[in-house]
Amino acid sequence: MQRKYDYIVIGAGVVGCIIARTLSRYEGSVLLIDKEADVCMGSTAANTAIVHAGYDPLPNTLKARMNVKGNAMWDTLAGELNFPFERRGDFVVAVGDEEFPELETLMTFAKKNGVPGCHILSGPEVRRREKNITPDVSGALWASTGGITDPFAVTVAAAENAVMNGAEVKLNTAFEEFIMDGDRIIGIKTNQGEFFSRWVVNCAGLYSDFVMHQAGVRPEFKIRPRKGEYFVFDRADVQIDNVLFPVPTEKGKGILVTTTIHGNTLLGPNADIIDDKENTSTTTSGMDEIWAGAKKLVPSLSKKYVIGTFAGLRPMGNAPCKTPGVDYNKDYIIEIPEEVRGFVNLGGIESPGLASSPAIAQEVVDLLKDAGEELKVKKDWDPIRPARPRFREMSQKDRKLLVDMDPSYGRVICRCENVTEGEIIAEIHAPIPATTYDAIKRRTWLGTGRCQGGFDTPRVVEILSRELGVSPLEITKRGKGSKFLFRPTKKVEN
Ligand SMILES: Cc1cc2nc3c(=O)[nH]c(=O)nc-3n(C[C@H](O)[C@H](O)[C@H](O)COP(=O)(O)OP(=O)(O)OC[C@H]3O[C@@H](n4cnc5c(N)ncnc54)[C@H](O)[C@@H]3O)c2cc1C
Repeated sequence: MQRKYDYIVIGAGVVGCIIARTLSRYEGSVLLIDKEADVCMGSTAANTAIVHAGYDPLPNTLKARMNVKGNAMWDTLAGELNFPFERRGDFVVAVGDEEFPELETLMTFAKKNGVPGCHILSGPEVRRREKNITPDVSGALWASTGGITDPFAVTVAAAENAVMNGAEVKLNTAFEEFIMDGDRIIGIKTNQGEFFSRWVVNCAGLYSDFVMHQAGVRPEFKIRPRKGEYFVFDRADVQIDNVLFPVPTEKGKGILVTTTIHGNTLLGPNADIIDDKENTSTTTSGMDEIWAGAKKLVPSLSKKYVIGTFAGLRPMGNAPCKTPGVDYNKDYIIEIPEEVRGFVNLGGIESPGLASSPAIAQEVVDLLKDAGEELKVKKDWDPIRPARPRFREMSQKDRKLLVDMDPSYGRVICRCENVTEGEIIAEIHAPIPATTYDAIKRRTWLGTGRCQGGFDTPRVVEILSRELGVSPLEITKRGKGSKFLFRPTKKVEN
């Protein structure tokens, strides 16, 4: 007999995990499912990691409202969940006199959207603040509330806090169809069996169109992936101190040059509409486009220091925004549709979906309240998710104390990023257990340095095998279909 939940959340990206965490604050049971082997394996796994200020979305859209409201919620969220977040501010850079008027347009948007702390700076002032910027800079919009974060850390921390507060997480569990009683959704069928609930929340990102169509909602809605590719630079070659956007175009926010929260320089993304929802390959033409776009802002960039490339897919929907005369800017869907009961429907949560995620979760709670849900706060709700030790960030004194308590923190497994065996073991036994190589990588940042996992991979496979009590042949990079080892090559006799 399957357990009946109050809320099932489909999709464990940043939106689904923050919604599950927010719902776990209230009385009632929560189940979060994802088809992948870990949380944060969709769009949330590959983006620019910027908590946008909110000057960019078209005024009067849900996107604009969620972005500005969400941005203001990040200090509390980061404080409670203990993930890295810095409110560094960002620049939208106008190159040449012809781009300068775009800054005035953005300033108008900023005012209409209610974004605090925006100013237009002159070219010399921008050059003073960012020494490597192009000498052709004619000015910039400075938005002091822009921030940078680590989307993996946010998502994992939110999911862990949900679990600490009683939510269940089932990974490798793919939604297939709804179980209906008349026009009411009463549960879902998955590849792992049936689960029943009073409400189902659609947070399936790129596949949110499939989920809503299974409920008979918005048959005309379609997600088309918009690919964005990136270059990652070695931390040793820090080219810039700030987040530098170009002026936006109809295709999006444009190719930026940014520093990440971990200190690497990141270039990208472009915006290429494709049909395949699984195609995260990088392309020569895409990388050339990024290089040209980034060099326009920072001419001194050199490919000598590139250590990696990657691509992510934006879940671009086709729900029109309600502003008359504008059809290029598609809006978010966050609704309780009339066609079925027991369904909270989200769709088209593309950028700034990361920045907006805490506000989206609050919007879902508000919709549920409007629909008559009582949502009483649990007496024992604990908003704090404690951080785990990060060896590379500790003083020598603290490192010594930690190693004295647990010698596994004295064995460095990833030399580029200084990640120890103790940290890996802690992640394997955490509230959301890391059971693949990439899951360890996302949480500890191991394998992201100059050697890109060359030294640590065999050791991590060994540790995962030992801690999970399975053969090394069973250990995967990212779940089904990504095993490292296929057969033993020799047997060692004792
Ligand atoms: C190139 C790029 C740059 C971006 N830059 C930024 C930025 O700087 N700032 C910002 O705010 N936003 C940015 N975004 C947008 C942001 O990444 C997304 O809006 C956000 O990650 C969406 O989160 P999500 O949880 O809705 O989707 P996802 O992270 O895609 O999560 C959806 C989850 O649903 C699961 N799922 C799908 N189908 C099923 C099923 N049938 N059963 C079970 N599970 C299922 C998937 O496995 C996935 O884990 C960017 C996006 C891209 C691609």
